[in-house]
Amino acid sequence: MTTPSDAIAYAAVAADQPLQQQALTRRALRDDDVLIDIEYCGVCHSDLHTARNDWGRTVYPIVPGHEITGIVREVGPAVTRHAAGDRVAVGCIVDSCKACKYCDEQLEQYCLDGMTGTYGGVDRHDGTVTAGGYADRIVVRDEFVLRVPDSLDMAAAAPLLCAGITSYSPLRTWKVGPGSRVGVVGLGGIGHLGVKLAVAMGAEVTVITRSDSKAEDAARLGAADVLSSNDRESMRASRDRFDFILDTVPVRHKITPYLSLLRVDGPLVIVGMIEQMPEMHSGHFINRRIVTGSGIGGIAQTREMLDFCASHDVTPDIERIEMHEINAAYDRLARSDVRYRFVIDIGRFREAR
Ligand code: NAP
Ligand code: ZN
Repeated sequence: MTTPSDAIAYAAVAADQPLQQQALTRRALRDDDVLIDIEYCGVCHSDLHTARNDWGRTVYPIVPGHEITGIVREVGPAVTRHAAGDRVAVGCIVDSCKACKYCDEQLEQYCLDGMTGTYGGVDRHDGTVTAGGYADRIVVRDEFVLRVPDSLDMAAAAPLLCAGITSYSPLRTWKVGPGSRVGVVGLGGIGHLGVKLAVAMGAEVTVITRSDSKAEDAARLGAADVLSSNDRESMRASRDRFDFILDTVPVRHKITPYLSLLRVDGPLVIVGMIEQMPEMHSGHFINRRIVTGSGIGGIAQTREMLDFCASHDVTPDIERIEMHEINAAYDRLARSDVRYRFVIDIGRFREAR
């Protein structure tokens, strides 16, 4: 495509307004660009934070969506990795400087020049604002497009591109494996994939939840146990119980109750994007538990994660929705009423165009 192309999208226009349909222009293909007809897009809690301006920095209008699967329609002349007809995926990163030490280490998410986000980022060439996967097509630089393994269903593969890699990466960083005792706080999109992935890596997993109603699901997902975070007695009795905890809570919360569940030198990996944390007494650090975080994962590790999911048969539990149902889905996501990831059928959205 040597000229820009028309797309349709759903955009957030203000924090207190529903998302609405909008026309969108996708850039003409550069030499190393891939044009993708989007089939599915997962709904991440970050989309909701962005649409509702939870972080106070959303510039409207914005087209969310960074859990994308689709089919390659066309490629630029310098593209080597992908061809028309390929099953592909795009996650949270669509570009980075590819020159700094972190890009060299394949940690593009920590690019010193700033990674380009799939939505709300600034294109490194033309300065336009990037628009995400709540749209019928997207144009992305070759190196940031991933192949979807044949055995993975395209709808179920979509949430792996953010929720999957966000849980997979810290599990690998902290070398979770057979015999590891893992706690996962919050059974939502990231949390339920964290459970499945840690179980597939051989760990013994406990779900730590406010929602007693999720206990049966936790067992079905492979968790060995459930710990109710509202039950002070059980929390107290679980001191020193875990080697690693993944904290996915999407709102400001106290972390000290979770820190005391860790063994000495065990990490509490916070992935929720929640701005200010409550103050902590320094005494909690003297017990030598580690408070850390983790951001998605690089492109090479995302590829590794997709292959791992294909070979271990790990896919998210999804609820398919149509594009026009997104506002109701956001309300349910805000209430933790989703088991466990909404995926928008973008193919149907295109057909209805
Ligand atoms: P989600 O599907 O909404 O899941 C979050 C879970 O946290 C809920 O299911 C709920 O589980 C628990 N929770 C919700 N509200 C809570 C509250 N008020 N107090 C305690 N627990 C609560 O969200 P997600 O898509 O997994 O995303 C989680 C967070 O990670 C978001 O902040 C998102 O922006 C962020 N994120 C970070 C990265 C990264 O790279 N670091 C990537 C993607 C997303 P229970 O019902 O079991 O308690
Ligand atoms: Zn996300």
